[in-house]
Amino acid sequence: MDKVFNGQVALVTGGSRGIGRSIALSLASDGADVAILARNQERCQRVAAEIEQLGVRALALSVEVADYAQVEQAVKQLIGQFGRLDILVNNAGITRDGLLIRMSKPDWDEVLAVNLSGAFNLTRCAARHMLKARKGKILNITSVVGLTGNSGQANYAAAKAGIIGLTKTVAQELAPRGITVNAIAPGFIATDMTKGLSTEVKEQILNRIPLARFGTAEEVAAAAKFLLSPAADYITGQVISVNGGMYM
Ligand code: NAP
Repeated sequence: MDKVFNGQVALVTGGSRGIGRSIALSLASDGADVAILARNQERCQRVAAEIEQLGVRALALSVEVADYAQVEQAVKQLIGQFGRLDILVNNAGITRDGLLIRMSKPDWDEVLAVNLSGAFNLTRCAARHMLKARKGKILNITSVVGLTGNSGQANYAAAKAGIIGLTKTVAQELAPRGITVNAIAPGFIATDMTKGLSTEVKEQILNRIPLARFGTAEEVAAAAKFLLSPAADYITGQVISVNGGMYM
Protein backbone atom coordinates (compact mmCIF):
# COMPACT_ATOMS: atom_id res chain seq x y z
CA MET A 1 0.00 0.00 0.00
CA ASP A 2 1.21 3.52 -0.77
CA LYS A 3 2.42 5.40 2.27
CA VAL A 4 1.60 9.09 2.68
CA PHE A 5 5.19 10.34 2.16
CA ASN A 6 6.32 7.75 -0.42
CA GLY A 7 8.81 9.28 -2.89
CA GLN A 8 9.27 12.43 -0.79
CA VAL A 9 12.47 13.74 0.76
CA ALA A 10 12.45 15.43 4.16
CA LEU A 11 15.09 17.38 6.06
CA VAL A 12 14.70 17.62 9.84
CA THR A 13 17.04 19.89 11.80
CA GLY A 14 17.75 18.74 15.33
CA GLY A 15 16.65 15.30 14.15
CA SER A 16 19.15 13.47 16.31
CA ARG A 17 17.25 13.74 19.60
CA GLY A 18 13.91 14.55 21.23
CA ILE A 19 11.12 16.05 19.15
CA GLY A 20 13.17 16.18 15.93
CA ARG A 21 14.07 12.48 16.17
CA SER A 22 10.40 11.57 16.68
CA ILE A 23 9.36 13.65 13.66
CA ALA A 24 12.14 12.12 11.53
CA LEU A 25 11.16 8.55 12.47
CA SER A 26 7.48 9.27 11.94
CA LEU A 27 8.07 10.65 8.42
CA ALA A 28 10.37 7.72 7.60
CA SER A 29 7.85 5.16 8.81
CA ASP A 30 5.36 6.79 6.46
CA GLY A 31 7.68 6.39 3.49
CA ALA A 32 9.84 9.54 3.32
CA ASP A 33 13.59 9.50 2.76
CA VAL A 34 14.92 11.59 5.63
CA ALA A 35 18.03 13.69 6.19
CA ILE A 36 18.74 14.65 9.76
CA LEU A 37 20.90 17.62 10.56
CA ALA A 38 22.54 18.37 13.93
CA ARG A 39 26.00 19.10 15.29
CA ASN A 40 26.93 15.76 16.87
CA GLN A 41 27.91 13.43 14.04
CA GLU A 42 27.64 10.19 15.99
CA ARG A 43 24.11 10.86 17.22
CA CYS A 44 23.05 11.87 13.67
CA GLN A 45 24.42 8.61 12.32
CA ARG A 46 22.68 6.58 15.01
CA VAL A 47 19.27 8.03 14.04
CA ALA A 48 20.10 7.68 10.33
CA ALA A 49 20.64 3.94 10.97
CA GLU A 50 17.25 3.75 12.75
CA ILE A 51 15.66 5.44 9.72
CA GLU A 52 17.28 3.02 7.25
CA GLN A 53 15.87 0.12 9.25
CA LEU A 54 12.44 1.43 8.26
CA GLY A 55 13.28 0.69 4.61
CA VAL A 56 13.90 4.24 3.37
CA ARG A 57 17.05 6.22 2.63
CA ALA A 58 18.69 8.36 5.31
CA LEU A 59 21.40 10.99 5.38
CA ALA A 60 23.26 12.25 8.45
CA LEU A 61 24.42 15.85 8.15
CA SER A 62 26.71 17.14 10.88
CA VAL A 63 26.06 20.88 10.63
CA GLU A 64 25.79 24.03 12.76
CA VAL A 65 22.45 25.62 11.77
CA ALA A 66 23.69 29.11 12.68
CA ASP A 67 26.42 28.89 10.01
CA TYR A 68 24.92 29.86 6.64
CA ALA A 69 27.78 28.44 4.56
CA GLN A 70 27.55 25.05 6.30
CA VAL A 71 23.79 24.98 5.80
CA GLU A 72 24.08 25.88 2.11
CA GLN A 73 26.65 23.11 1.60
CA ALA A 74 24.47 20.57 3.44
CA VAL A 75 21.40 21.35 1.34
CA LYS A 76 23.56 21.04 -1.78
CA GLN A 77 24.78 17.62 -0.59
CA LEU A 78 21.21 16.51 0.13
CA ILE A 79 19.97 17.58 -3.33
CA GLY A 80 23.00 15.89 -4.90
CA GLN A 81 22.21 12.64 -3.15
CA PHE A 82 18.40 12.55 -3.17
CA GLY A 83 17.63 14.86 -6.11
CA ARG A 84 14.79 16.74 -4.42
CA LEU A 85 13.56 18.32 -1.19
CA ASP A 86 9.84 18.23 -0.36
CA ILE A 87 9.72 18.81 3.39
CA LEU A 88 11.76 21.01 5.73
CA VAL A 89 11.31 20.87 9.50
CA ASN A 90 13.12 23.65 11.38
CA ASN A 91 13.32 22.07 14.80
CA ALA A 92 16.89 22.59 16.10
CA GLY A 93 16.87 24.72 19.22
CA ILE A 94 18.69 25.51 22.44
CA THR A 95 18.04 27.34 25.70
CA ARG A 96 20.37 29.60 27.71
CA ASP A 97 17.99 30.74 30.45
CA GLY A 98 18.47 33.64 32.84
CA LEU A 99 16.71 36.77 33.98
CA LEU A 100 17.22 39.70 31.61
CA ILE A 101 19.41 41.64 34.04
CA ARG A 102 21.79 38.70 34.36
CA MET A 103 21.57 37.45 30.77
CA SER A 104 24.94 37.72 29.05
CA LYS A 105 25.21 39.14 25.54
CA PRO A 106 26.71 35.84 24.24
CA ASP A 107 23.73 33.89 25.68
CA TRP A 108 21.34 36.29 23.94
CA ASP A 109 23.26 36.09 20.65
CA GLU A 110 23.64 32.30 20.64
CA VAL A 111 19.95 31.58 21.20
CA LEU A 112 18.91 34.03 18.50
CA ALA A 113 21.56 32.67 16.11
CA VAL A 114 20.57 29.02 16.53
CA ASN A 115 16.81 29.23 17.09
CA LEU A 116 15.92 32.07 14.72
CA SER A 117 18.75 32.66 12.22
CA GLY A 118 19.14 28.87 11.93
CA ALA A 119 15.56 28.63 10.66
CA PHE A 120 16.16 31.52 8.25
CA ASN A 121 19.32 29.83 6.89
CA LEU A 122 17.58 26.51 6.22
CA THR A 123 14.41 28.11 4.88
CA ARG A 124 16.30 30.29 2.41
CA CYS A 125 18.40 27.41 1.08
CA ALA A 126 15.48 24.95 0.91
CA ALA A 127 12.98 27.42 -0.56
CA ARG A 128 15.07 27.79 -3.71
CA HIS A 129 14.47 24.14 -4.58
CA MET A 130 10.84 24.16 -3.50
CA LEU A 131 10.12 27.26 -5.62
CA LYS A 132 11.54 25.53 -8.69
CA ALA A 133 9.51 22.40 -7.96
CA ARG A 134 6.38 24.49 -7.20
CA LYS A 135 5.82 22.19 -4.24
CA GLY A 136 6.93 21.96 -0.66
CA LYS A 137 6.03 22.02 3.01
CA ILE A 138 7.92 23.87 5.71
CA LEU A 139 7.25 23.34 9.40
CA ASN A 140 8.83 25.47 12.10
CA ILE A 141 8.94 24.44 15.74
CA THR A 142 8.23 27.44 17.94
CA SER A 143 7.09 27.23 21.58
CA VAL A 144 4.27 28.17 23.90
CA VAL A 145 6.64 30.80 25.31
CA GLY A 146 6.81 32.45 21.88
CA LEU A 147 3.11 33.16 22.41
CA THR A 148 3.12 34.03 26.11
CA GLY A 149 6.66 35.13 27.05
CA ASN A 150 8.31 33.53 30.06
CA SER A 151 10.30 35.03 32.89
CA GLY A 152 13.92 33.92 32.54
CA GLN A 153 13.71 33.25 28.82
CA ALA A 154 13.94 36.65 27.07
CA ASN A 155 16.31 35.26 24.43
CA TYR A 156 14.36 32.05 23.83
CA ALA A 157 10.90 33.70 23.85
CA ALA A 158 12.11 36.43 21.46
CA ALA A 159 13.54 33.83 19.09
CA LYS A 160 10.38 31.71 19.25
CA ALA A 161 8.12 34.75 18.68
CA GLY A 162 10.42 35.60 15.77
CA ILE A 163 9.82 32.13 14.34
CA ILE A 164 6.09 32.90 14.28
CA GLY A 165 6.70 36.13 12.32
CA LEU A 166 9.00 34.23 9.97
CA THR A 167 6.38 31.50 9.50
CA LYS A 168 3.58 33.92 8.59
CA THR A 169 5.77 36.04 6.29
CA VAL A 170 7.32 33.14 4.39
CA ALA A 171 3.87 31.51 4.16
CA GLN A 172 2.65 34.63 2.32
CA GLU A 173 5.71 34.81 0.06
CA LEU A 174 5.68 31.14 -0.97
CA ALA A 175 1.92 30.52 -1.18
CA PRO A 176 1.70 31.51 -4.87
CA ARG A 177 3.96 28.55 -5.67
CA GLY A 178 1.90 26.08 -3.65
CA ILE A 179 4.32 25.87 -0.72
CA THR A 180 2.87 25.84 2.79
CA VAL A 181 4.61 27.12 5.91
CA ASN A 182 3.25 26.38 9.37
CA ALA A 183 4.44 26.22 12.95
CA ILE A 184 3.86 23.99 15.95
CA ALA A 185 4.04 25.54 19.40
CA PRO A 186 4.71 22.74 21.87
CA GLY A 187 4.11 23.23 25.58
CA PHE A 188 6.24 21.23 28.01
CA ILE A 189 7.57 18.11 26.30
CA ALA A 190 9.72 15.53 28.09
CA THR A 191 13.10 15.63 26.25
CA ASP A 192 16.78 16.36 26.99
CA MET A 193 15.90 20.07 26.83
CA THR A 194 13.53 19.88 29.79
CA LYS A 195 15.01 17.05 31.86
CA GLY A 196 17.48 19.37 33.63
CA LEU A 197 14.75 21.54 35.19
CA SER A 198 14.36 21.25 38.96
CA THR A 199 11.48 19.24 40.46
CA GLU A 200 10.10 22.50 41.86
CA VAL A 201 10.01 24.20 38.43
CA LYS A 202 8.49 21.07 36.85
CA GLU A 203 5.75 21.05 39.50
CA GLN A 204 5.00 24.73 38.89
CA ILE A 205 4.65 24.04 35.17
CA LEU A 206 2.52 20.94 35.75
CA ASN A 207 0.08 23.04 37.79
CA ARG A 208 -0.51 25.21 34.71
CA ILE A 209 -1.34 22.29 32.38
CA PRO A 210 -5.08 21.47 32.29
CA LEU A 211 -4.39 17.95 30.97
CA ALA A 212 -2.18 17.51 34.06
CA ARG A 213 0.83 15.84 32.43
CA PHE A 214 3.81 16.67 30.25
CA GLY A 215 3.59 15.97 26.52
CA THR A 216 5.66 13.46 24.56
CA ALA A 217 7.81 13.96 21.48
CA GLU A 218 5.51 11.49 19.68
CA GLU A 219 2.52 13.76 20.33
CA VAL A 220 4.32 16.65 18.63
CA ALA A 221 5.33 14.33 15.77
CA ALA A 222 1.67 13.37 15.25
CA ALA A 223 0.73 17.03 14.68
CA ALA A 224 3.78 17.46 12.44
CA LYS A 225 2.77 14.47 10.33
CA PHE A 226 -0.66 16.00 9.78
CA LEU A 227 0.67 19.44 8.83
CA LEU A 228 3.20 17.92 6.42
CA SER A 229 0.70 15.56 4.77
CA PRO A 230 -1.65 16.29 1.85
CA ALA A 231 -4.50 16.40 4.41
CA ALA A 232 -3.17 19.87 5.36
CA ASP A 233 -2.70 21.21 1.81
CA TYR A 234 -5.07 24.14 2.48
CA ILE A 235 -3.46 25.13 5.80
CA THR A 236 -0.69 27.74 5.75
CA GLY A 237 0.66 30.46 8.02
CA GLN A 238 -0.82 28.78 11.10
CA VAL A 239 0.54 28.08 14.55
CA ILE A 240 -0.83 24.86 16.04
CA SER A 241 -0.41 24.47 19.80
CA VAL A 242 0.39 21.03 21.24
CA ASN A 243 0.45 21.98 24.90
CA GLY A 244 -2.11 20.09 26.97
CA GLY A 245 -4.16 23.29 27.21
CA MET A 246 -1.33 25.22 28.91
CA TYR A 247 -2.19 28.27 26.80
CA MET A 248 -5.51 28.70 25.00
P1 NAP B 1 16.65 18.58 22.43
O1 NAP B 1 16.21 17.24 22.91
O2 NAP B 1 17.59 19.39 23.24
O3 NAP B 1 17.24 18.42 20.94
C1 NAP B 1 17.73 19.53 20.24
C2 NAP B 1 18.18 19.09 18.86
O4 NAP B 1 18.68 20.22 18.16
C3 NAP B 1 19.30 18.07 18.91
O5 NAP B 1 19.19 17.19 17.81
C4 NAP B 1 20.54 18.96 18.76
O6 NAP B 1 21.65 18.19 18.28
C5 NAP B 1 20.03 19.99 17.74
N1 NAP B 1 20.77 21.25 17.79
C6 NAP B 1 20.93 22.08 18.86
N2 NAP B 1 21.68 23.13 18.54
C7 NAP B 1 22.02 22.98 17.23
C8 NAP B 1 22.82 23.74 16.33
N3 NAP B 1 23.41 24.87 16.72
N4 NAP B 1 22.97 23.29 15.05
C9 NAP B 1 22.38 22.13 14.66
N5 NAP B 1 21.62 21.38 15.47
C10 NAP B 1 21.44 21.78 16.74
O7 NAP B 1 15.38 19.54 22.19
P2 NAP B 1 13.82 19.21 22.05
O8 NAP B 1 13.20 19.33 23.38
O9 NAP B 1 13.60 18.00 21.23
O10 NAP B 1 13.37 20.51 21.24
C11 NAP B 1 13.22 20.54 19.83
C12 NAP B 1 12.59 21.86 19.44
O11 NAP B 1 11.33 22.01 20.10
C13 NAP B 1 13.42 23.08 19.85
O12 NAP B 1 13.32 24.08 18.86
C14 NAP B 1 12.74 23.55 21.10
O13 NAP B 1 12.95 24.92 21.33
C15 NAP B 1 11.30 23.22 20.80
N6 NAP B 1 10.46 23.09 21.99
C16 NAP B 1 10.73 22.16 22.94
C17 NAP B 1 9.91 22.08 24.05
C18 NAP B 1 10.13 21.07 25.15
O14 NAP B 1 9.44 21.16 26.15
N7 NAP B 1 11.03 20.13 25.01
C19 NAP B 1 8.83 22.95 24.18
C20 NAP B 1 8.59 23.89 23.19
C21 NAP B 1 9.41 23.95 22.10
P3 NAP B 1 23.17 18.62 18.60
O15 NAP B 1 23.21 19.04 20.03
O16 NAP B 1 23.99 17.42 18.28
O17 NAP B 1 23.46 19.73 17.65
